[in-house]
Amino acid sequence: MKDKSPSGDTITFLGTGGARIMVANQVLASGGLWLNLGGTEILVDPGPGCIVQSTKRKLRAEKLSAIILSHRHLDHSADVNIMIEAMTQGGFKPRGRLFVPTDALETEPVIFSYLKSYLEGIEVLKEGKSYSIGNISFTTPLRHIHPVETYGMLFKTAEHTFSYITDSRYFDSLCHHYGGELLIINVVFIEPIFSVDHLSLPDAERIIAELKPKVAILTHFGTSMWRAKPWEAAQRLSQETGVRVLAARDGMRFDLSQLDNP
Ligand SMILES: [Zn+2]
Repeated sequence: MKDKSPSGDTITFLGTGGARIMVANQVLASGGLWLNLGGTEILVDPGPGCIVQSTKRKLRAEKLSAIILSHRHLDHSADVNIMIEAMTQGGFKPRGRLFVPTDALETEPVIFSYLKSYLEGIEVLKEGKSYSIGNISFTTPLRHIHPVETYGMLFKTAEHTFSYITDSRYFDSLCHHYGGELLIINVVFIEPIFSVDHLSLPDAERIIAELKPKVAILTHFGTSMWRAKPWEAAQRLSQETGVRVLAARDGMRFDLSQLDNP
């Protein structure tokens, strides 16, 4: 029998709320994803409250190797500056790299210029490029359809592969570029709203059915998804797609060793 001991790859959901109304009300928290991949710690999309949610859970910013923004919208970037300051201990211990789309740095930057010298480096995300952080690599396979420059990610660790489909309007390429054993997907709406570039539950179902990961985790819920009880929606998707679908909860820590013993 395979060893069920923790793999050393975990993902903590610092928040599961998404889009403007839910984030403004904080019915669900909005702090992003804290990855611990074989000891390499990476913060993805530090939305409002990230510093509060992470310190409350004893996650220590000074251990972070990198911060990644999928895009510049407030619910993904609001705490990026304080998290850079915390990662570098107020700038006294420069460290860590920042990965962001070009438009997070230009025109109306979301990163304060005085913090840039605290970092080891800044890398600009581009469609189809690969990046490495220690022994972790990730790619940004395609630019999403969203009002600002936006990229999802496909991560590879020593033991696992997983994807993060961040905010986007649905388009078929989403079903072809995000492989891996685990899929994390931002599902804002219960039904599609044509005028808004966000994924809905039927979109998520289509993507999960095509990609067939071992596990899919729904997160980034807007008000309509929250009212529909995401855990019930996840159960329905599990039955319909044959994939184990979970609804993330605020503070949930997912151990990727679960992928080793389906
Ligand atoms: Zn967005």
